[in-house]
Amino acid sequence: MEKNASIYVAGHRGMVGSALVRKLRAEGFNNLIVRTSSELDLRNQRAVADFFEEERPEYVFLAAAKVGGILANNIYRAEFLYDNLLIEANIIHSAYQNSVRKLLFLGSSCIYPKLAPQPLKEEYLLSGYLEATNEPYAIAKIAGIKLCEAYRNQYGCNFISAMPTNLYGPNDNYELQGSHVLPALIRKFHEAKLNGDAVVEVWGTGSPKREFLHADDLAAACFFLMENYDDELFVNIGTGEDVSIRELAELVKETVGFEGDLQWDLSKPDGTPRKLMDVSRIQNLGWKHETQLKDGLKRTYQDFLVNEVQLLS
Ligand code: GDP
Repeated sequence: MEKNASIYVAGHRGMVGSALVRKLRAEGFNNLIVRTSSELDLRNQRAVADFFEEERPEYVFLAAAKVGGILANNIYRAEFLYDNLLIEANIIHSAYQNSVRKLLFLGSSCIYPKLAPQPLKEEYLLSGYLEATNEPYAIAKIAGIKLCEAYRNQYGCNFISAMPTNLYGPNDNYELQGSHVLPALIRKFHEAKLNGDAVVEVWGTGSPKREFLHADDLAAACFFLMENYDDELFVNIGTGEDVSIRELAELVKETVGFEGDLQWDLSKPDGTPRKLMDVSRIQNLGWKHETQLKDGLKRTYQDFLVNEVQLLS
């Protein structure tokens, strides 16, 4: 990408989109195009088509999506499927119609079958049944990958896809019913510490394992792929290391400085037992993550403390 290239970052207010904007600005790209969801409803085909015709971005990072943790995915099944299908279909089709030079679509590690062998290799896509709690989201993300492949095959569009593992960092969602585990635990332990509570409730059994990547590392990986990767096969982005939810809970507890106990709420779902990414593909291309979980967690808690009022409003 040339430094003055026009780059549309879809979803720039989210954790991933805002990390992408920080990364692009740091690399000297200042011709960024962004729209809030009230300025542009990405589910509206006409509005997206008009926006692309008017702005004619040369590059697109597709980081806009309806996202959430295990409970939100399981409850708002219709919106997770409908909104995500519309967002990606509208953007990818408009990118084709307006000759976007390159587009990067962001998916998720939940596209893989629930019981796929670990670590998850890219070729395991569609080799088994999906995890039930996030099947609608996963189906939408798989459709996004297939849209990129189809427009590439039929029309020669340079549309690539990247599948990040579980993410954390600034601008995360701390709303307890909708959030992912890591921000939920930061908030729960923080509030319990302030209230002097003796126990914090944690969901499930604690035995599922998850891999966590800092959003700034993800943004660096996306930038790397945009600059260096032009193939059809999507690419996993992660650290290649995972921890159990129990280990994560202990780590967050220590980081926040909560001194009470954990209580496991077995009425909440565990979800997929494990989803560790095989990251050999991106590492062989020349990219590796930088942030270790312990350090990233400290930074994220500091960011939470600074922005608490805004994050919890
Ligand atoms: P997932 O990776 O799609 O399953 O999404 P989550 O990040 O929401 O959940 C990961 C795991 O953490 C699941 O096994 C949850 O049951 C567990 N977990 C434990 N406590 C919490 C919590 O307070 N919030 C969330 N979202 N998950 C929790």
